[in-house]
Amino acid sequence: MEQNTTTPKNAERKGVLSRIRERLLGPTGKTSPDAGKTQAEPQAPLEMQSGHMPDPDTGLFSDLEEGLDAAVKESIRIEVDVTVEPFLDIPSSETTRVDSSDSDTDLTANVEAFEGDEGKEESTAAEMIVDAIETATPEKPSRFKQPTQFRRGKSISHHRLGINLLEKGLITPQVLYAASKEQEVTGEKLGQILVQNQYLSNSERVQAILEVSAERIAQETVSKTKIPVEKLIEHKIIISTIHDDGIFVATMGDERMVRRIVAEYYPGKKITFVPFSPTKFAPFIANMRKSSDAVDTVATKETVLDRLIFRAVSTGGSDLHFIPRGKSYSVYLRVNGLLEHEHEGPMDEFLAVAAQAKNRARLDSSKKHAPQNGSFQIEFNRKMVDLRVSASPNIEGECIVIRIQDPESINKNINHLGITRIGKWTQATSRRGGLCLLTGGTGTGKTTTMYSTIMSFDRQSKKIITIENPVEVRIAGVSQVAVNEATGFDFNKALEAQLTQDPDVIAVGEVKNEETARTIVRAATSGHLVLGTLHTGSISETLDRLMGLGIKDHELRYILRGIMSQDLIRTVCKKCHGTCVDHEGFTCAECLGDGYDGRTLVSEVEYFHDHNDVDRLFAVREGNAQPTWETIVEDAVNKYRQGITNEQELDRLFGAAARPYLERAA
Ligand SMILES: [Zn+2]
Repeated sequence: MEQNTTTPKNAERKGVLSRIRERLLGPTGKTSPDAGKTQAEPQAPLEMQSGHMPDPDTGLFSDLEEGLDAAVKESIRIEVDVTVEPFLDIPSSETTRVDSSDSDTDLTANVEAFEGDEGKEESTAAEMIVDAIETATPEKPSRFKQPTQFRRGKSISHHRLGINLLEKGLITPQVLYAASKEQEVTGEKLGQILVQNQYLSNSERVQAILEVSAERIAQETVSKTKIPVEKLIEHKIIISTIHDDGIFVATMGDERMVRRIVAEYYPGKKITFVPFSPTKFAPFIANMRKSSDAVDTVATKETVLDRLIFRAVSTGGSDLHFIPRGKSYSVYLRVNGLLEHEHEGPMDEFLAVAAQAKNRARLDSSKKHAPQNGSFQIEFNRKMVDLRVSASPNIEGECIVIRIQDPESINKNINHLGITRIGKWTQATSRRGGLCLLTGGTGTGKTTTMYSTIMSFDRQSKKIITIENPVEVRIAGVSQVAVNEATGFDFNKALEAQLTQDPDVIAVGEVKNEETARTIVRAATSGHLVLGTLHTGSISETLDRLMGLGIKDHELRYILRGIMSQDLIRTVCKKCHGTCVDHEGFTCAECLGDGYDGRTLVSEVEYFHDHNDVDRLFAVREGNAQPTWETIVEDAVNKYRQGITNEQELDRLFGAAARPYLERAA
């Protein structure tokens, strides 16, 4: 290829173009089957709709410019196709803003993140794509003239953040291209767009900024902090960024003193000092005052809910329970799976709090005797947190439960959930068609695993549809449909409607009845990859349940790809090893004396490559063969042996079922 630099033949051009296509569209180079079916997004640039799309197979591109141009446009078309699917029951961004504006400050205004500070024109998306291809493709198509439109603008150093993320494999060129297009329309920072669209966690964003241009961290400021404003003023402190592992602080005061103050409010976080920027101090304090006013103003009914939600979100709680008791009401907060009493208040306060929660979640506040579900969002630490509200009557009144879905916790990489045999699950879910089932009781983390599985798919080149009741977490690039039984838009209607949209992957909430079971089996039989959840505790029970729902074993023979059963077990604090005190004898700052620092998954999973594997599974069920998989109890016992969890937890989850394994070890 090196010698023939002047007159490349069409065939060779085709080769380069197909490599670029591959990079942009994935290895299949398959165009979206639905291109044109859905309407283009109103604000989408016109060129997307009118751009000519050469057929990849005829391959007669007149030159590289045209081909690349078309290919990148096409990649955007796919993105548009996916995102314009109607998101039923999803509040518009206006609603979202109204919900969060009363308690929150405008984040975009006081964040001066640098990712886009060169302005909208700094990097055309096309440049990024070309750069990405140049850096990622070993054989550069360098002997071709670079299309002039891609050469315009500034050099690679101006979108170092994007390149950094590409190089680390955190995003694909397509994702970067789509984000930069979004940036052109919204003017938001590239990193923030990627975080909002769940391609990146905030920690990954901060990490990338640190790597490409650490000093820029100092230009950010947070919109909320637990440290009282008075202390911030007294010691001249700016909190720049807070992420999972650490906190970035700027100060004009005594660093040792400031370190102590920050550690008190953010125990366990690594504190890093960044240069203090005097011009930022006054606006930062003004913002903090605004947000602390909203939180601290005593007893206006408006803020009790805000304060509880803020408390829940900032402590990593998973749900808030408001329980009326006649004369007063209690609020419990669940952290790491266990409820703690959080607040007690008078009944009139409860009525106001309940009304506000229902109002925000767009529930009918006049209805008090029927269960209702809804959701709203708040902004916390520069990301949107979904709050799912459910109201249901009890004899004392109406119980309100608010479930907190932190997108970052959902954004967990499937490989980091603690699934011991994760390879089997990814094998199953990487198949083009078939049925993959995720099973476990309530609160066993099924939803997180389901969302993480979906996040692990290539959302740019696959059409993914979820049918949920209700939609718990929004995933960019995925078409999420909310079932609404009240209007007759039930599960089967939703699924039937979606099947006509030619999806690659269909993920459904719980399979509860025969009709649903039948529909997903039919969808899997017709060549879709179907993910579903069932309320069972093991692989064998899952089969029993399917049979109970009227599915015959021969129907599963050619479609069953994988079953995973899971539960959550608390993990022993890595800092104090469960002793709850640090080496100086003080309460452990990591677990706050709890002895546990989080939870991990225990699971059993099996992958069925073909019908022979499924036959073997049925033989196990009938007692004619030994299980080929490690059971969930064995997995938990192994985690106990490794010191990840302890005996109490093993007992709590499995009781006597774990005994034989423990005794075998002893
Ligand atoms: Zn500890």
